[in-house]
Amino acid sequence: MKSHARVAIVGGGIMGVGLLYHLALEGWSDVVLIEKGELTSGSTWHAAGQCPHFNSSLNMTKVHVYGTELYPKLERLTGQAVSWHGCGGLRLATTDEEVNWLKQVYGVSRLAGYEGEIIGPSEIKQYHPFLDVFGVKAAFRTVTDGHVAPADVTNAMAAGARRVGAEIYRRTRVTDIKLLPNGEWRVVTDQGDIVVEHVVNAAGSYADVVGAWTGHTVPIANMLHHYLITTPVRELIEFAPELPVVRDPYSHSYLREEANGILIGPYETATAHLCWDGEPLAWDFESELIAPELDRLTPWLEKAAERFPLFASAGVKSVISGAITHTPDGVYLSGPAHGPKNYWMHCGASIGICQGGGAGKYLAQWMVHGQAEINMREFDPRRFGAWATKEYVNDVAVADYHHMYYCYKPGEQHNVGRDLRVSSLHEKLKGHGAQFAQVFGWERARWYDRSGEGEAFSFKRSNAWDAVRAEALAVRERVGLMDLSTFSKFDVKGRDAHPFLERICANKVPAKDGGIVLGHLLNDNGFIESEITITRLGAEHFYVLSAAAAQLYDFDQLSWRLRPEEQVEIADVTDAFGTLVLAGPKARDVLARCTDADLTNAGFRWLTAKTATVAGVVGVRLLRVNYVGELGWELHCPMAQMPVVFDALMAGGDVTLFGTYAMNALRMEKAYRGWGSELTAEIDMFEAGMDRFIRLDKPDFIGRQASLAMKQRGARTQLVYLEVAAGDADCAGNEPVYVGDRLVGLTTSGGYGHAVEKSLAFAYVDPALAAAGTAFEILILGERRKAQVLADAAWDAANHRLRA
Ligand SMILES: Cc1cc2nc3c(=O)[nH]c(=O)nc-3n(C[C@H](O)[C@H](O)[C@H](O)COP(=O)(O)OP(=O)(O)OC[C@H]3O[C@@H](n4cnc5c(N)ncnc54)[C@H](O)[C@@H]3O)c2cc1C
Repeated sequence: MKSHARVAIVGGGIMGVGLLYHLALEGWSDVVLIEKGELTSGSTWHAAGQCPHFNSSLNMTKVHVYGTELYPKLERLTGQAVSWHGCGGLRLATTDEEVNWLKQVYGVSRLAGYEGEIIGPSEIKQYHPFLDVFGVKAAFRTVTDGHVAPADVTNAMAAGARRVGAEIYRRTRVTDIKLLPNGEWRVVTDQGDIVVEHVVNAAGSYADVVGAWTGHTVPIANMLHHYLITTPVRELIEFAPELPVVRDPYSHSYLREEANGILIGPYETATAHLCWDGEPLAWDFESELIAPELDRLTPWLEKAAERFPLFASAGVKSVISGAITHTPDGVYLSGPAHGPKNYWMHCGASIGICQGGGAGKYLAQWMVHGQAEINMREFDPRRFGAWATKEYVNDVAVADYHHMYYCYKPGEQHNVGRDLRVSSLHEKLKGHGAQFAQVFGWERARWYDRSGEGEAFSFKRSNAWDAVRAEALAVRERVGLMDLSTFSKFDVKGRDAHPFLERICANKVPAKDGGIVLGHLLNDNGFIESEITITRLGAEHFYVLSAAAAQLYDFDQLSWRLRPEEQVEIADVTDAFGTLVLAGPKARDVLARCTDADLTNAGFRWLTAKTATVAGVVGVRLLRVNYVGELGWELHCPMAQMPVVFDALMAGGDVTLFGTYAMNALRMEKAYRGWGSELTAEIDMFEAGMDRFIRLDKPDFIGRQASLAMKQRGARTQLVYLEVAAGDADCAGNEPVYVGDRLVGLTTSGGYGHAVEKSLAFAYVDPALAAAGTAFEILILGERRKAQVLADAAWDAANHRLRA
């Protein structure tokens, strides 16, 4: 074994090998992979090998599309045989909401560029004459879905990687990983040590054990999954071509042809459980199956036989049962781990055969170039924090497995693993009918339900509509109050705090105490990585706020940019402060009842802050800023005392509680962009229309040189703000935008503006089409809807109300 390398990947399943191959292709050939057994001897060897396209997420779809395009070519590229079966796929829909889902995914397919169509029950028979289509309303047919032998594809990528210099150490077990004082990593193995710049945890079912050596919590659980293969069936021997892979919500199964027999894999909707009782598996577990539990599967197999009656008459030839890793949101973990730099996660895949190629490609881009060509946020392991305890991960993994074929409507979440992080107002808000959503472990109110019915989630506008309208109008006409304690909050202090923030931020950092600015952290390539609000509390004390989901991510963004010689302390104070947003024309009157602070316009200007006593609570950070576009303040109170402040603000009876649904409607009316939707790491400040927040006149900041070059180059795509003739469903993001038949862009987010009575959306389009008045059509749930570029924010474009 070498003593040094640039990268060591721990684990030789499809995820690790897919990354190795793509790192090598990106030009990093000094990379090694260490596998304790043989390649694929973990979960990979016994997978069923299906590679579907159907997915709601555009980024994940791009991962799938890359794989299904790569695998058929791998033999030519690497010289290693790969048995690709391009048989196509059928995803069945049995309810109206499932049909809406097919329509939403059809829009994604247009953007991702794969061939798919929605067909009716009679057409299904054309492609799969043996299927019983009872209860089926429609199917999504993909032409380029397929299946592959997982070992073939892994070995082919390994051969390809070796050809360009990568090395693979088989039968070598990593026993420890240590951070060295110079920032490198020592990877300890039973065959000697290797020191590397980057270490990657691709240890599959062992990823949590491997992570624990360096203090990383890896939120994975190993679920027991089965599939069965029958003996050959005469009808299939006589039938050609190969049948498409069917995914059926009725039997919660995938059903396909395998060597003229039938392969059926049920995802049980009850009774599923963890492998090995949730305990770590033995190190010598290799190329083994887990004892099958066939009796348990019977209800789903019976349903599968109703759907595919030939199954009932065939004999079972083999049963495969093995561990499948699940994360709480069903998406694999790929990206930097929180904490010291250059520890990467690449694990947690439940559909890893399909995803291994694309996942490897995009992580390799991130490692080599500092960013990937797709938005990696949904894969970033830092979307889970310490709140994702083992118990939570196990409970949600089981729920996720049970719901593998369930149609999640937008916004719908699991009900297990809840109430992990709550603000001090949680019970009070619940009493007002708060409908909570989980975000980064927090419970955050979306809207307030006075009916007690809860939300009937839908791809179209839900039953929350009237309540949200009332909340939004209360903010516009009177005053609203929101608990936004989920903000990530950091105190940045020290002698060099100001120059440090100035050096990392595209905007100018406030020079006077009490100043507030919106700042963006760019990467060296000039793309947008983070959005933060900076408040100067003192010459050496800045209060930095960012998105709830970015608590670990933004802590890393700040601390990784710090130079050793800079005297700066970054403290995460998220849990110490609760945040109330008081906004609306009457906000001043309400706040004045509770504080002696000077709230006059001259005494407390827009975009300034003061520390004050409110309702007797000392040390409340009052920030005159908000995301809804009204006169208002954010009140950052010591968390334990927030209920006192809340009660005082509510005491007059004239304040309406509002949630994040109303906030989205209000920010859309103001054309405020959102981090993660409009502002992402594939976009620069000019493309996002954020020119006034980038101060190229500053002598230097990270990303300045690249931004200057990009300004000269001109935008590749341009953000536009649209009014949409939306019908009964507003834009949600990732809908295709057309001029005639030409695809010219995609939406990023949207919502209904209740005060302006317009459905609004943001979209990135061809820059030549960005002028106000340009007309488009947007494909929303299968319907072409007219849209037009607006010149200005639909509400108070001149910001009079904020400054009132
Ligand atoms: C029954 C079944 C059917 C499936 N069907 C499909 C399907 O149809 N389509 C699909 O896309 N996916 C399918 N999957 C899922 C797929 O198998 C996994 O998502 C994928 O194999 C995960 O790959 P991996 O590289 O993350 O993990 P693994 O393949 O488990 O690889 C991890 C490797 O790390 C090694 N390792 C761990 N610790 C160490 C250490 N300390 N030192 C050295 N090496 C170490 C292990 O030996 C192992 O080889 C199925 C899974 C099962 C169980």
